[in-house]
Amino acid sequence: MTDPDMSLHMTRDEFRKRGHEIVDWIADYWDRVETLPVRSAVEPGDIRAMLPDRAPAEGEDWDAIIKDIETIVMPGITHWQSPGWFGYFPANVSGPSVLGELLSSGLGVQGMLWSTSPACTEIETHVMDWLVEMLGLPDRFLSSGQGGGVIQDTASSAVLCALLAARDRSEDGRAAVAYASTQTHSSVEKAARIAGLGSDGMRAIAVDAAYAMDPAALRAAMATDRDAGLAPAFVCATLGTTSSHAFDPLPAIAEVCVEFGAWLHVDAAHAGTAALCNEFRGMNVGLEHADSYCFNPHKWMFTNFDCDCFWVADRRALLRSLSILPEYLRNAPTDSGAVIDYRDWHVPLGRRFRALKLWFVIRHYGVAGLKHHVRQHVAWAQEFAGWVEAVEDWEVVAPAPLNLVCFRHRGGDEVNERIMNTVNDEGRVFLTHTKLDGRFTLRLSVGQTHTERRHVELAWERLQAAAGQLPVAS
Ligand code: PLP
Repeated sequence: MTDPDMSLHMTRDEFRKRGHEIVDWIADYWDRVETLPVRSAVEPGDIRAMLPDRAPAEGEDWDAIIKDIETIVMPGITHWQSPGWFGYFPANVSGPSVLGELLSSGLGVQGMLWSTSPACTEIETHVMDWLVEMLGLPDRFLSSGQGGGVIQDTASSAVLCALLAARDRSEDGRAAVAYASTQTHSSVEKAARIAGLGSDGMRAIAVDAAYAMDPAALRAAMATDRDAGLAPAFVCATLGTTSSHAFDPLPAIAEVCVEFGAWLHVDAAHAGTAALCNEFRGMNVGLEHADSYCFNPHKWMFTNFDCDCFWVADRRALLRSLSILPEYLRNAPTDSGAVIDYRDWHVPLGRRFRALKLWFVIRHYGVAGLKHHVRQHVAWAQEFAGWVEAVEDWEVVAPAPLNLVCFRHRGGDEVNERIMNTVNDEGRVFLTHTKLDGRFTLRLSVGQTHTERRHVELAWERLQAAAGQLPVAS
């Protein structure tokens, strides 16, 4: 029996010692991650089979806990931090980000209200204002005007909040309808379901040959709905679609939104980071008409998941939808109206101190450092596209203006699937696929923190080897 007066908490000294060990472990992991097969090879249930049926009745020795990182956890890890990671979009991290995350955990702040930790709110507001300038976003997203930014967990939550605000703004008795292209991320339809529009209240708008939304088709769909007595309330345009990195034409879409009084949300979850660089900022033309915008530093800006930056042009619409003030949360600063309470800007009440890791990342790299890495990733992806184009058996199949290349071997769907599986089974690099016009298409997404040009070269070498043009590695 445990002595009722005894403290079972980890001592400060042990925390210090074990904390140093964990930081060392992470640094060693990043050193060796390149040598590990990128994709976990376990079968369903393998990890659970290694776990005891019941939770330990008594606390265990820390050495035993740590030992299981290698034996139980690592076999089931797919290495998103491998420099050979070219799948999906990256979920990259960096030293300053992990340290910010650790500090945030140690402080254990719950920043629902300004008063529950003023630094949590004010650093977030300030960093979000910095980013407006860093990314060349419209001034109306600045907190000094009617707008402002907030860190959400994900782009999915951002679009949900935007849709809730749009739905309530449009409320006039007619059922609200949302519009997005056939290539839009599934989070928009999920948001429509949660917001009560349902999948029936969602229209998938046709795209052009470059997989970008067709504004004429958007206008036609909205007119049909309006004539049927519905309220065309919300349009989600994407800058850098998940499948092929298509860029919806913002100026034309914005014009349609103005015509119908619809809310325009712009989802730049992955590609938005590129706007750090002047030469890629053209994508933001038309954004001055957007009601809301988001991008994910947790994809391509070296900041640990989760971290989505979400701005609105008029925060009153958002607050109208999400603000509830029960008595137990009342406090003088809130009543004064002089502070931001971010609980009113998203779905959950509680919130972590996410701004800390973002602040650390921006300060560590500086704007110039972030641009440098973005430019490298884009340059290597462009080189890769050139290599693919130069070989007759291969083709690039969608515009690749940034760091995602959609391509395929001319041998057809089965050949491409075999190539991808062979490369991924080898484990040195990892790619995923999509379907474009119904055809199996390979995607190479260059943006992992530790990726160097030689890893992109390796990817091309392994792809060609898998296609039988080079000897397949043993
Ligand atoms: N939007 C786009 C364009 C995406 O590519 C993704 C994910 O890849 C999302 C939204 C969803 O992101 P999250 O996981 O932050 O919800």
